[in-house]
Amino acid sequence: MGIPVIQSTAAGPARATTRPGTDQKTETPVRPEVNGLIDRYQRLATDLRVSLTDRCNLRCTYCMPAEGLPWLPKDRLLTDDEIVRLVRVAVQKLGVTGVRFTGGEPLIRPGLPAIVAAAARLDPRPKLSLTTNGIGLARLAGTLRDAGLDRVNVSLDTIDPDRFTALTRRDRLSDVLAGLASAADAGLTPVKINSVLMRGVNDQDAPDLLRFALAHGYELRFIEQMPLDAQHGWDRASMVTATEILAALKAEFTLLPDPVERGGAPAETWLVDGFTALDGRPARVGVIGSVTRPFCGDCDRTRLTADGQVRACLFATEESDLREALRSGADDEELAGRWRTAMWGKRAGHDIDDPTFLQPARPMSAIGG
Ligand code: SAM
Ligand code: SF4
Repeated sequence: MGIPVIQSTAAGPARATTRPGTDQKTETPVRPEVNGLIDRYQRLATDLRVSLTDRCNLRCTYCMPAEGLPWLPKDRLLTDDEIVRLVRVAVQKLGVTGVRFTGGEPLIRPGLPAIVAAAARLDPRPKLSLTTNGIGLARLAGTLRDAGLDRVNVSLDTIDPDRFTALTRRDRLSDVLAGLASAADAGLTPVKINSVLMRGVNDQDAPDLLRFALAHGYELRFIEQMPLDAQHGWDRASMVTATEILAALKAEFTLLPDPVERGGAPAETWLVDGFTALDGRPARVGVIGSVTRPFCGDCDRTRLTADGQVRACLFATEESDLREALRSGADDEELAGRWRTAMWGKRAGHDIDDPTFLQPARPMSAIGG
């Protein structure tokens, strides 16, 4: 296989520049011989999400039932070394340039600092980030920064202590706030906050969350709730939409169009008039309209679950098993080939609004959000 015919632009998402040929007999597109993770819709995946565990120390109602879930058995989880090997394959053979560790709750995996350090030693070095609920971050932020972590996203859906406890089913707001502060002190910046709003639960909290984020120099992004909860309780009709979130923010803040091009980023962003971020840049707020404003056409993600399955999409119903291949002695080139094939099969979009939409069997906490 020759030099990859792939291209990444500063302004937009990475794109495959080679158009697929077509099999004359079956008329199905044939994957061109390139190294990168292309699919048949000209997208190129360069952003890897690695789930380090399906377990969690919170029980957010939009994610997990109160009693938790049947966790993956230990022998099915990738070891730290197996994760590092697959990240290396992704970076060195498949053109992945960014790796985000997530879960479940990634901070409860004891090997996290060592995994980050090994990923930071790769050549080329990928950008390294973490999505976490922030519990334990106060203790670990400095260690993770020293290991090579670049940035964190902390999930926080309300700053009201009672609503936090109701929503996460745990009384841990002060740990999350301490984690945010430590991340900023450690320089894991820009520190971003992810918030999900639920009608009748915390939908009144959007302006307070933005005031809190602006006061501390964190960058806030709201995410529309998606049908990925283990309980299958998501309801399109009662979901708080991007339009509603923006209306609530605009009632109290002046939002100006962001001059920075969105590129492949899922968040639509606005400048918050009159506010400045800690680094002196204008303060921003983002809304990720995963359901009502899908960005599938620009998606540049590939996912690896804690048990070693490649998923082309959060909503994929198929997975490709790299764990068994790896444990049966597959070499790096074979693993890379399986990963390429899995991504070539990525569907055009999530089709949540299609009547035939099927929620994936794995919940968000086991896929890696
Ligand atoms: N435990 C970590 C955390 O909460 O940040 C990482 C895993 S969590 C699954 C990743 C992100 O997915 C969080 O920001 C969480 O709010 C979001 N999330 C979970 N379930 C969701 C859902 N059904 N719809 C939208 N976002 C969801
Ligand atoms: Fe845990 Fe994150 Fe799911 Fe909340 S959203 S239960 S913190 S995995």
